[in-house]
Amino acid sequence: MTDILVSEVGPRDGLQSISRVMPLDAKKDWIAAEAAAGVREIEVGSFVPPSLLPQMADTAELVAFARGIEGLNVVALVPNAKGAERAAEAGVHAISIPFSMSETHSLKNVRKDHPAMLAEIAEAATIAKSAGIHFAVGLSTAFGCTMEGAVSEDQVVRLAEAAAAAGAQEFSLSDTTGYADPAQVRRLVRKVRAAVGADRMTTLHLHNTRGLGLANVVAGLEEGITTFDASLGGLGGCPFAPGASGNLVTEDLVLMLNAMGLKTGIDLEKLLEVRAILAEALPGEPLYGFTPDAGLMLDYNQRTAA
Ligand code: ZN
Repeated sequence: MTDILVSEVGPRDGLQSISRVMPLDAKKDWIAAEAAAGVREIEVGSFVPPSLLPQMADTAELVAFARGIEGLNVVALVPNAKGAERAAEAGVHAISIPFSMSETHSLKNVRKDHPAMLAEIAEAATIAKSAGIHFAVGLSTAFGCTMEGAVSEDQVVRLAEAAAAAGAQEFSLSDTTGYADPAQVRRLVRKVRAAVGADRMTTLHLHNTRGLGLANVVAGLEEGITTFDASLGGLGGCPFAPGASGNLVTEDLVLMLNAMGLKTGIDLEKLLEVRAILAEALPGEPLYGFTPDAGLMLDYNQRTAA
C-alpha cells in the first residue's frame, strides 16, 4: 500500500527540454530501471509531431515497451485531439493534455486561445473515453506566467470548471515557470478542489527553479494532494532560465517523502543508481539534486521503517 504516488515525467518533460535526442534503448533502460526501483507511473513521452520535437519521435515504441512492465501506469502527454488519437492507438493507460491558464502563453505555445483549447479538450476527452483511457488535464502556468506575470486564481478556477465540463477526469496544477509559493499552492488547491471536487484535483507538477519545490510539496501534502510529478536528476533544467534547475528532482522528493514516513513504494538507493543511465546516455548534461551528493541520512532506514 502506498500513500503517495510519485509520477516520473523525466522521459517527457526532461527530454523535451534538451535538444539532444536520447537513444531509444537508453530510454527503455531508464524506464525499466525506475520501474524496478518501485516507480509506478511514468510519463514516457508525448505525441507531438516529430518535426516539432524529434526527441519524442519514438513515443509509440516506448509506450509498447512500457506496457510490458507489470504494474506500471503508462502516461503520455498529448497537445491536442490528434495526439490523443495517436496515444490511444499506441495503447497508453492515461493521457494528459496541458491547458495553459495564461492565454498569452497558450497562444504562443500552441496557437490556441482558451475557447479553442476547451474544444480540443472536449474532443480529446471523447477519444479517451471511447478508448477506455484515463484523461487528465494539466492546468499549466497556473501559478504565474513568464509573459503575463500573475495569473488570476479566479480564472484558473473558471477554466478548471470548464475543462471538467468538457470531460476532464483529473486535474494537475502545474507550476510551469517555478513561480509558486507554498501559501499560493495551498490557496489554489483549495479553490480548484472546491470547484471540481477533491477526487479530481489530485496532482501537483512543481518546479524547483527558485528552490521552493519541496516546500510547495509539503503545502500540497497538507491539503491532501496524493500525486506529485518529478524528473530524475531534474533533467532538462528550466526552459525559461538557462542554467537554473527546473522540474522537481525525483530523488529529493522520494527522500523527503520516505523520510517523513509516507509510503512511496520506491527504493531510493535503487533509484539513485538510475542516474548512471542518464549520465552515460547524455554526457555533459547537468543533473540536479541534493540527495545524490549528500547521500542518505544515517538513520534513513529507521525513519522509513516507522
Ligand atoms: Zn515540468
